[in-house]
Amino acid sequence: MKVTAIDTCVLTVPTPKPMALQYPQHKLVVAEISTDQGIRGFGYSLVFGGGGAEAVHAYLDARLKPALIGEDPLYVEHLWEKMFRVDMGMKKQGVVAYAISALDIGLWDIAGKAANKPLYKVWGALRHRIPCYGSGGWAKYSVDDLVREAEKYAAYGCRYYKMKIHDPDPKVNRARAEAVKRTVGRDVRLMVDVNQRLDVLGNIRQAAELEHLDLVWYEEPVLADDIASCAEVARAIPIPVATGENNFTRYEFRDLIEKKAARYLMPDVCRANGFSETLKIGHLAAAHGVMVSPHVVHEISLHVVGTLANGFLVEFMDWAPPDLFETLPECKGGRFRIPDRPGHGMALARGAIDKYRTR
Ligand SMILES: [Mg+2]
Repeated sequence: MKVTAIDTCVLTVPTPKPMALQYPQHKLVVAEISTDQGIRGFGYSLVFGGGGAEAVHAYLDARLKPALIGEDPLYVEHLWEKMFRVDMGMKKQGVVAYAISALDIGLWDIAGKAANKPLYKVWGALRHRIPCYGSGGWAKYSVDDLVREAEKYAAYGCRYYKMKIHDPDPKVNRARAEAVKRTVGRDVRLMVDVNQRLDVLGNIRQAAELEHLDLVWYEEPVLADDIASCAEVARAIPIPVATGENNFTRYEFRDLIEKKAARYLMPDVCRANGFSETLKIGHLAAAHGVMVSPHVVHEISLHVVGTLANGFLVEFMDWAPPDLFETLPECKGGRFRIPDRPGHGMALARGAIDKYRTR
């Protein structure tokens, strides 16, 4: 089989309410890979909030696409290595990593379709029903918005809900988390997300306000670049730390693991250099007794948790408009069933490119 063409574009997709209060849109960098045998792979990277999507698209088109044309798409590992080494002066983090991710996801989609199996079965299946947590709780929500969103996810059967703690006053964050806890009761456990906004002392102060809430985890306490400080927070607070959505390679995750910076790692398949690297990160974590809970894009991350014994939850965040994908997996009883379609199982809806293409 040979790659004959790669069609790329950027889609601008509006978010549903209440997420739109914080992020009115996201962008999707799309790469549709055609082959001489008629199989097409659908690759994409979700650029949350949209910032930088054009740069991802430009790098993918100018530098990575030429490296794949004419190659056998089933040699996924070889092509990943090739893409990783296209520009030795570009670190495979940020823009470059999003671009490699989109193509790696598209190549794996072809591999699954060629094998006529969903990816988690290609990789060795562990489970087909994947538990999730409801995610949102943005800073711009009123307490009412927060509580309503937590109830919405609880109605899907989700037993976990994650909210942001972005207020500069730790006591305000405490009051918001307590309001949610009062509503959802004991059946739903909470996680909180700092999104890199505090330093070590700020986190110690904040976490002390939240200890009584039996939190599953305390997420991304410091700048994602500063692994040593993340480890310091993890040592200093009694709540387990989660991080990794802004880390990109097995090498960064190795540092996180060796420094004991987190109990839960959260690689994002659209950022961490695709499925290929995310699986390696997952297996590395398994060797250290660390759990993996992939960041957003639950619709394709399901396959990762479907093959990793140390896979924990996917992040259920309602980000896609209903006419973007042909179908989206449905959450029932707090779990998603992995689609039994070959490849990753996702496809753009007819007309989605025309409707959402960024011009
Ligand atoms: Mg987060």
